[in-house]
Amino acid sequence: MLIGCPKEIKPQEFRVGVTPDAAQEAVAHGHKVMIETGAGIGAGFSDDDYSAAGAQIAGTAAEIFASADMIVKVKEPQPVERKMLRAGQILFTYLHLAPDPDQTRDLMASGATCIAYETVTDDRGGLPLLAPMSEVAGRLAPQVGAWTLQKANGGRGVLMGGVPGVGPAQVVVIGGGVVGTHAARIAAGMGADVTVLDRSLPRLRYLDDTFGGQFKTSYASKANTIALARAADMIIGAVLIPGAAAPKLISRAQLAELKQGAVLVDVAIDQGGCFETSRATTHQDPIYDVDGIMHYCVANMPGAVARTSTIALGNATMPFMLALADKGWRQACEDDPHLLAGLNVHAGRLTYYAVGKALGIDV
Ligand code: NAD
Repeated sequence: MLIGCPKEIKPQEFRVGVTPDAAQEAVAHGHKVMIETGAGIGAGFSDDDYSAAGAQIAGTAAEIFASADMIVKVKEPQPVERKMLRAGQILFTYLHLAPDPDQTRDLMASGATCIAYETVTDDRGGLPLLAPMSEVAGRLAPQVGAWTLQKANGGRGVLMGGVPGVGPAQVVVIGGGVVGTHAARIAAGMGADVTVLDRSLPRLRYLDDTFGGQFKTSYASKANTIALARAADMIIGAVLIPGAAAPKLISRAQLAELKQGAVLVDVAIDQGGCFETSRATTHQDPIYDVDGIMHYCVANMPGAVARTSTIALGNATMPFMLALADKGWRQACEDDPHLLAGLNVHAGRLTYYAVGKALGIDV
């Protein structure tokens, strides 16, 4: 099979769908890989890295769309890319179709077979192609929060680990899922005093059993949440209610109860944010102040560390990409119900129930 990987064209997207490692594995499986020139630059991979891995370099995306059997990307195809998709071609990338009727219509019109990273599942009920990005965002959250806590950036001027004779920063993580667990581990590793709040007792039990020595856990009742928030230097919002907007856990009025210069890092901003005063920001202008409380609300946090994110995503997508290339999409999906769960559009039809329900299209 010919696997094609165009350069991402969505603004501020520096990741790339196929790493040189993944290209090398695909070539070892007997496939051809074609990469658009410069596609890996944002993630620190040169054309030479891809050539050394056995890939061909294409001058334009058009060349790739015209000849590849499967297109592997990161972001949903942009309108100009959608026009180049062909019937029978496989598209393997993040799609997020539910809020995007234009893209859904275009993908149906293309006749291509479109498999979405975000709906591929695993044996434990998880989403293995979303998890790496939650891991990245979680680990990044205390890092950006620590920077924001510095006085020159509007924060309280508190050092995460303190120093001998001066106590550490108080960090509260709301939501102990993938993002929250990774955030808590890194904050604790920086020496902060960390408490994780969650509404799921099984999750709190797991966190306590696994990380009991590193951070504390607390049930996320309204009373516990605000009591811990009042004492916090940094609050990391990491909640998720699947398929719903994030619940607002700290109101504008409650900001007055927080310490001046405290930092809110709202990782859940891509689901609307879990603080009432959150609004999405960008890497160019990531933080803002509301009533003396600093907010960091970047909706695509993994983009800040495009190289780490690309490699993490590539590690997760590679086995699925190889299965699709080795067996063809039909056999690969027949053999693996978790990959089948990723199938969103095929031959002009929408094949994913939740998207159909959201958009009022028959599945
Ligand atoms: P997850 O499902 O693994 O974890 C969410 C946790 O929140 C669960 O443990 C759940 O029990 C808990 N929860 C739900 N409601 C709660 C409440 N009211 N109080 C306390 N806990 C509550 O999800 P995740 O992968 O950790 O993702 C968390 C959020 O981060 C999602 O909104 C996701 O979209 C977002 N995210 C953002 C970025 C970014 O760049 N900003 C990147 C990755 C993920």
